[in-house]
Amino acid sequence: MANIKDDITIYDYIIIGGGTSGAVAARRLAEGKDHYNVCVIEAGPSHEGIDNSRMPGGLPALFQEGALDWGYNMVPQKGCNNRVIAASQGRVLGGCSAINGTVFTRGVKADYDRIADMGNPGWSWNDMLPHFKASETFHPAECHQADLSAHGTNGPLHTEPHPLMPISQKILDSFIDQDFEYKPDMFVQGEFEGLLCSHYAIKCSYQASLGVGHVVRTIHNGLYVLSNQGS
Ligand SMILES: Cc1cc2nc3c(=O)[nH]c(=O)nc-3n(C[C@H](O)[C@H](O)[C@H](O)COP(=O)(O)OP(=O)(O)OC[C@H]3O[C@@H](n4cnc5c(N)ncnc54)[C@H](O)[C@@H]3O)c2cc1C
Repeated sequence: MANIKDDITIYDYIIIGGGTSGAVAARRLAEGKDHYNVCVIEAGPSHEGIDNSRMPGGLPALFQEGALDWGYNMVPQKGCNNRVIAASQGRVLGGCSAINGTVFTRGVKADYDRIADMGNPGWSWNDMLPHFKASETFHPAECHQADLSAHGTNGPLHTEPHPLMPISQKILDSFIDQDFEYKPDMFVQGEFEGLLCSHYAIKCSYQASLGVGHVVRTIHNGLYVLSNQGS
C-alpha cells in the first residue's frame, strides 16, 4: 500500500483494528507534533480495489458477498417470531465505515451532556461541537436548508445532502401536513425529534469510507498499516 513505511521496527503505538475509530486514532497520533510511529493491525483485507465499498449503491452487493463481514448473527429474537437476524460488522480496512450507509449524524445533544455530567469533562455537546465541525467539510445543496453555523468547512469528512426520490418527498410532505416539525439539519444540531432528510458522508456519490479515508490520507512518516491481504 502507498502509505506503508516498512523500515520501522519499533512502534510507539500499535492499534489493533483498522476500523473507523482505529484509523482515526492512528492518523491523529502519526500527524501530531510528536510524529509517533504507529502500527495498525487489521484482521480483514485491504479496502483497495473493493469498488462496492466505495459506492453507496454497492452496499447490497457487499452483504450478498459477505466477504467483508464478520458474519455475526443475533440470537433468535422472540419479538420477531424467533428469527435469527444478521448483525453486520465490517471486517476490512475501514471497518464498518467501509460497509455502512454513510448517513451523517453526530448523535444527540442531551446524550453528550449526560456523559459530561457523569464526570467526564470535555464531553458536553458544546465541548464536542468544535471537534465535530473540525472533522467536516460540508457541501451545501439547493435541495437542503442548512444551518451553516453548525457545519464545518475544512475537515477530512466530506458531507453532502441529496435530493429525495419523488415518493420519499411525498412521504415527507405528508408528515409535514400532519404538523410534524420539519428540522432539515437536526442531525448536525444534536436534535432527535422532528423530520429531516438525512445527508450523507459522501461527495458526488462516492463514499468516503471514513476509517479508510483517514488511513489513506495519512501519508505521514511512521504509519504502518498491516491488513490481511490474503482473506
Ligand atoms: C451495515 C451498517 C450500516 C451502518 N450505517 C451507518 C450510517 O449510515 N451512519 C452511521 O453514522 N453509522 C452507521 N453504521 C455504524 C457505524 O459504521 C459504526 O458504528 C462505526 O463504523 C463503528 O466504528 P468502530 O471503530 O467502533 O468499529 P469498526 O469500524 O467496526 O472497526 C473495528 C475494526 O477492528 C477489526 N478487528 C476486530 N477484531 C480484530 C482483531 N482481533 N484483530 C485485528 N483487527 C480486528 C475489524 O475487522 C474492524 O475493521 C452502520 C453500521 C453497519 C454495520
